[in-house]
Amino acid sequence: MTLVSARPHPHTCHNLIGGNWHPSSGGLRELLSPHDGSLIGHVPMSTAAEAQEAVRAAAQAFPAWRALTLKERTVPLFRWRELMLTHLAELSALAASESGKTVAEARAGILKGIEVAEFALSLQNLDSGGSMEVSQGVTCQMQRRPLGVVVGITPFNFPAMVPLWMIPIAMTVGNCFVLKPSEKVPLTSQKIGELFVAAGYPAGVFSIVNGGKDTVEALIDCKDVAAVGFVGSTPAARAVYQRATNLGKRALALGGAKNPVILVPDADPDLSVQGIVDSFTGCAGQRCMAASLLIAVGNVDHLISAVVKKAASLKLGKDQQMGAIIDAAAKTRINDIIGRAEHSGAKLILDGRKVTAPTGCNGGHWLAPTIIDHATPDMECATTEIFGPVLTIVRVPDLSTALALEAVSTYGNAVSVFTTNGRVARTVTEHATSGMIGINIGVPVPREPFSFGGTKSSKFGHGDITGKSSLDFWTHLVKLTSKWSGTAAQNWMS
Ligand code: NAD
Repeated sequence: MTLVSARPHPHTCHNLIGGNWHPSSGGLRELLSPHDGSLIGHVPMSTAAEAQEAVRAAAQAFPAWRALTLKERTVPLFRWRELMLTHLAELSALAASESGKTVAEARAGILKGIEVAEFALSLQNLDSGGSMEVSQGVTCQMQRRPLGVVVGITPFNFPAMVPLWMIPIAMTVGNCFVLKPSEKVPLTSQKIGELFVAAGYPAGVFSIVNGGKDTVEALIDCKDVAAVGFVGSTPAARAVYQRATNLGKRALALGGAKNPVILVPDADPDLSVQGIVDSFTGCAGQRCMAASLLIAVGNVDHLISAVVKKAASLKLGKDQQMGAIIDAAAKTRINDIIGRAEHSGAKLILDGRKVTAPTGCNGGHWLAPTIIDHATPDMECATTEIFGPVLTIVRVPDLSTALALEAVSTYGNAVSVFTTNGRVARTVTEHATSGMIGINIGVPVPREPFSFGGTKSSKFGHGDITGKSSLDFWTHLVKLTSKWSGTAAQNWMS
């Protein structure tokens, strides 16, 4: 992305501050379609003053918003959900156009985001706290209290879903939310923001500040920001977590991944081949749950041949089976890693680098599925997050070597095993060090109300970003102990 001085594109993002859309005085960057390279909009790099203004407006909105009951806070969320469904086709096309996904993938991501909102809507019935008479006449009660102004920082690869992992839950429990969307995919967030306004959220409860690293740092540094939720690459996650926690703020930062799939000879051929190909090629491999390392246990050549055949047959295009790479820099980086793998002695058994772009998409960034076999565990292609449709295969003699490889990975987002043997599945489950474990499923992504989150360098902080355990991140737990009767039990504490 380059800084431009040209007249702003009609799709130039504004900041949503205090319920109104404001143009930013920060420099504009071009948004280029990953599909065909066309100019699709501009995004501002907001100033620190603009970040502070958004947080100030959110802090002003907080007392009235937190004073509502949880049930009252769900009223605009019900309306917003309907609006999202009404605008689903438009949102899907927009998210695909800026992220390079296929339209079907973009739509699925938006629906997953709406599912998180449905979980938030159910909190009015589920999250009634807890209360118990702990001794005669003495009652203990738990209450959740919102934190105040919270910030969410999100990556390019899921323009709707990842912001929606955080926003509906954080706001429904009473926080005011400031979103800093990825500067590569800000257009979907603008539309989602318009729908929050249309749904009747009070001014300042939901805000957007566009920008990059400097804007993130300005937001974290604002005195009134109580908590920071982050999803992105590991270096940025680590930096955000450290900056926020050094300031005494609550932080949960999800990072990158290198997800292994353990494939054993007894695996069901249909289930495993489909699962592996879908996992490493879905979203063109640009998802934190993508299987990117195949740990082949023993002789699984019959399955690997079928994986190669299936992956080679995929059609590329925004309305086809696989989309584009986010930008030219990412494509170059991926190509370079593939080149270095070949140079270090690994064998390229499927090379997607010379693919022809779909019709009308010559200016886009296309890379077909690529499979690198006979990599050694220490090679860059086996240890680095490539974030493209690239599967690296490492051959091992037995399950315990496979598990040892999984354990030494610096990442810990997900691991899957494909097997028809219950004992193998159980051994993997018991020994895996990753946060999300799949059995005969290539993308073991938990659905609501189960929580999403990894371990090691895939997550900094405690708790999870979605589901039940996210409630502990977005709230304080307050314990109330009360006695109203003169005849209540006495003990050494009360
Ligand atoms: P990125 O880290 O480059 O950017 C993510 C966000 O952080 C953006 O909003 C960006 O503006 C901001 N940012 C970038 N550098 C920063 C810094 N040094 N300090 C503060 N903020 C910074 O990530 P990306 O390329 O947009 O997304 C891809 C990455 O996100 C991959 O590594 C992928 O695995 C990861 N990801 C992880 C999950 C998960 O749940 N673990 C989910 C989706 C994506």
